[in-house]
Amino acid sequence: CGIIGFTGYTEAKKVLIDGLTALEYRGYDSAGIAFYEGGSINTIKTTGKVAALTDKIAALNTSAEDTGSTCGIGHTRWATHGGVTDTNAHPHTAGKVTLIHNGIIENYRELEIRLKEEGRIPISQTDTEIAALLLDSLYEGDALKAIKQAVELIEGAYAFCILFADQPEVIYSLRNSSPLVACHAKEGSIIASDMVALIDYSKDYFVVPEMHVVILKKDKIILTDLDGNLVCPRILHVNWDM
Ligand code: GLU
Repeated sequence: CGIIGFTGYTEAKKVLIDGLTALEYRGYDSAGIAFYEGGSINTIKTTGKVAALTDKIAALNTSAEDTGSTCGIGHTRWATHGGVTDTNAHPHTAGKVTLIHNGIIENYRELEIRLKEEGRIPISQTDTEIAALLLDSLYEGDALKAIKQAVELIEGAYAFCILFADQPEVIYSLRNSSPLVACHAKEGSIIASDMVALIDYSKDYFVVPEMHVVILKKDKIILTDLDGNLVCPRILHVNWDM
C-alpha cells in the first residue's frame, strides 16, 4: 500500500527504508525491497512491519562482499489477493522483471490462464505476480514496448515500479488510479505513493499523469506517453516542513 523507488548517488537501502517508514501511516502487513547490487537484483521481503524488514536486512548485511547499492524499489503491502506470507510480499520477480504494485489487477485470473498455457507458473497467490509474469513474457529488451502491451491487457488499478535485470540503475514506473509522485534532487531520482516520502529530498515534485511512463535515472527523470513521446512534467512546490 506504499511504494518507493530510488536511483541516485547515495545508499539506496537507507532511502527506501526511510521512505517506507514515512509511508507507514497508509497501513500494511508486509514489507520488502529489491536493489541492484554487485551486478544483480537482490530481494529481501517479510511479513510484518518495516522494523522486521530492517532486522532481516541487517542480518543479511554482514557479508564482506556487500558492495552497497544506489538503486532499488520498496513496498509495504496491504494484502488483497493471497494471504499474508513472505512469498506473497512484494517485490515479485519473473525472469528479467522485478516489480512492486499498489492496487488490484481485476482480470488476473484470465491473464494467469493464458500465462500458464505458455508454461509461466506463478509461485505466489497474488494478482501482482501475474503482472510480473506478463511483463516478462512481453519484454524483449524494449521496456516501453512491453509496458504498453501489458497495459493494454491489464484491467484494474495500479501503481508499478519496475526493474529490468538488464537495465541496471534504471526504474520504470506508471500508474492508473493509484497515486504516484516523483522528484529529482541532488541525491538522485525518487518516486513514491506520497509526497511525505520525498519531502526530505525536494519540495519540487510532480504528480505522475495516469497512463504515462516515468523513467528514473540517476541524473534525470524522463516522462513519456505510452508511445514514448516526451512529456514535460508539471512541477509543483510544497511549502510545508516535516
Ligand atoms: N493486490 C496486491 C496484493 O495483494 C497489492 C496490494 C497493495 O496495494 O499493497 O499483493
